[in-house]
Amino acid sequence: MTRTQPEERDMAGSIQDVRVALVTGGRRGIGRASAFALADNGFDVLINDLEHDEAAEETVQGIKDRGRRASFIQADVADLGQHERLVREAQCFGPLSCLLNNAGVQTRHRGDILETPPESFDRLMSINLRASFFLTQRVARQMRDDDRGDRTRPTRSVIFISSGNAVIATAAQAEYCISKAGVAMMSTLYALRLAEYGIAVHEVRPGIIQTDMTKDVFEKYNGWVEAGGFPMARWGQAEDVGNTVAQLASGRMPYSTGQAFFVDGGMHIRRT
Ligand code: NAP
Repeated sequence: MTRTQPEERDMAGSIQDVRVALVTGGRRGIGRASAFALADNGFDVLINDLEHDEAAEETVQGIKDRGRRASFIQADVADLGQHERLVREAQCFGPLSCLLNNAGVQTRHRGDILETPPESFDRLMSINLRASFFLTQRVARQMRDDDRGDRTRPTRSVIFISSGNAVIATAAQAEYCISKAGVAMMSTLYALRLAEYGIAVHEVRPGIIQTDMTKDVFEKYNGWVEAGGFPMARWGQAEDVGNTVAQLASGRMPYSTGQAFFVDGGMHIRRT
């Protein structure tokens, strides 16, 4: 099919906006699952990550197999000097309609908050918090300049992947919890600012999701998960998060912005 840009015709012949998403840290895990779900919902997808390896190529191919355009952009989002190129290259399919701030890291070592090293604190803030803040700022300015005018029914979105640790304290991972609590406030602040441009801002808070990030703590958590440590006694899968992201980005929650969507099997519910 030959596509016109930045719009295309749907099966009924109506002109539709081409929807383009940028997914940071998207070559595997939650980023990859979100990219696939976005592609299933009609988005062309740009994948960003640190390494352009086999996993990155598999992700790009998976998007193409779903009938959408895809490309990979190698960049370290923590390096603000790379953002100009990242955002420029991300518009090769047309203006961005969704930014998914997914790239994130855990602490390398769990430890006592009384011993948290400054290097670990800075690393977590730099990748999990500062990178998303300034990348969103740059993309949001671009979206503002490309204002489509409908502020009552957002067609564009910025989505942050935070964590249940935005509100649940894990004392041995203080810097992770603090960075994710910051992401939650960042999402609220951008929601306030961007509504007037028809841009919805959502925070997605995963619980315990089975990805490479959690493989080292699988044994530690598995017994708790299976014993019903929270209402839905199973590990979350990356697809659980990806499908939520795609629902939000597709505009199926047209009167929602600035709130957190838990994808955690009910882990956040306070119980007696
Ligand atoms: P993952 O499997 O480790 O994937 C994260 C991806 O982000 C990796 O490919 C990683 O590359 C990339 N990345 C890291 N730093 C980057 C940077 N500076 N620039 C560009 N890409 C970078 O983790 P995941 O489980 O899918 O997690 C994705 C997001 O969900 C993170 O924000 C995480 O905090 C959040 N989350 C995860 C869970 C969970 O249980 N898994 C729960 C709550 C929230 P490298 O591998 O090369 O570092």
